[in-house]
Amino acid sequence: MAEYEWMTDVRAMVGREYGRTYAWDRVNEAMIRQWCEVMGVVNPLYTDADVARQSEFGAIVAPPAMLQAWCLAGLNDEYPPGSTEESPYEVLKQIEAQGYPSVVAVNSELTFDRYITVGERLYYTTRLESISEEKTTGLGTGFFVTLIMTYFSEQPSAAEPDPGKFGSEQPSIEDEKVGELLFRVFKFRAAQRDESQANANKAKAADHENSAEKPAIKRPQPGVSDDTRFFWEGAREGKLLIQHCTACDRLQHPPGPVCMHCHAFELDSVEVSGGGELYSFVIMHYPEVPPFEHPNPIGLIELDEGVRLIAGLVDVDQDALEIGQRLQVEFRTFDDDLTLPLFRPASA
Ligand code: ZN
Repeated sequence: MAEYEWMTDVRAMVGREYGRTYAWDRVNEAMIRQWCEVMGVVNPLYTDADVARQSEFGAIVAPPAMLQAWCLAGLNDEYPPGSTEESPYEVLKQIEAQGYPSVVAVNSELTFDRYITVGERLYYTTRLESISEEKTTGLGTGFFVTLIMTYFSEQPSAAEPDPGKFGSEQPSIEDEKVGELLFRVFKFRAAQRDESQANANKAKAADHENSAEKPAIKRPQPGVSDDTRFFWEGAREGKLLIQHCTACDRLQHPPGPVCMHCHAFELDSVEVSGGGELYSFVIMHYPEVPPFEHPNPIGLIELDEGVRLIAGLVDVDQDALEIGQRLQVEFRTFDDDLTLPLFRPASA
């Protein structure tokens, strides 16, 4: 199909390089420790100077997955002096102006070239890598836009940046590339929903519920492995089973082949009470995914025994969900062959 005329100008932007975006702070132990705490990362290489000193790195290093965090804007959405004032996202505004108001991130791929050490100063430059043909997906019609952020470590020998000069400068030869982030978004206009068709579907769904006829779409089956089979078999018997390490006597979820605490292989499972608290939740409004409830409330539940698991929430008032509210497991069987642990308010 022939492209829109306005697209010629937009396509001309592909390949464009944007100047440096600096990190507010040099790589530092405080940010590393806080990030590890928030993400639940336990690795002494990142937080214990004594252990790190004995390692191949000789000092604390930053978790590779933190790369993007160093160069984020502050809470006021401002970048540090010396950063480019151009927006690598200008292309999205141009597409938006043509009637594609929505955006969703679809890919984020980090590549690490090496570990980052305390004291390094990072920046990235951005390249508009590609814009797809116009595509129609379940979400709507629009364009996939791919940006590549390349991360550099400024070499200590490099002169301090002159704030007046940096805007569009490319990396100096001495600065070392340390990683890359591919970031792809879908800039689109939402699929138009035909109201009369939607109502017809609703009526049809109601018919299904009233008749003994099975719904056409079944719940997806979980991926079951040797490590997780006990969990699903337990659910079938109405038991909430959590993996337990016989070496260190701790619980873990989701189940795996090895104890995440002590790395022992001696794992069995224990039945837990099924009581817990709502630790966090999300209500998925879009897209609608039959046969799940719509909107679909999903909880992260902290069990009384201390582990957290993700499960669907049932019999809840979606507007009244509260972090910390008491929940109780409830097993429900779908399509005659799938029993899932779901959670309902404990008082209900
Ligand atoms: Zn253990």
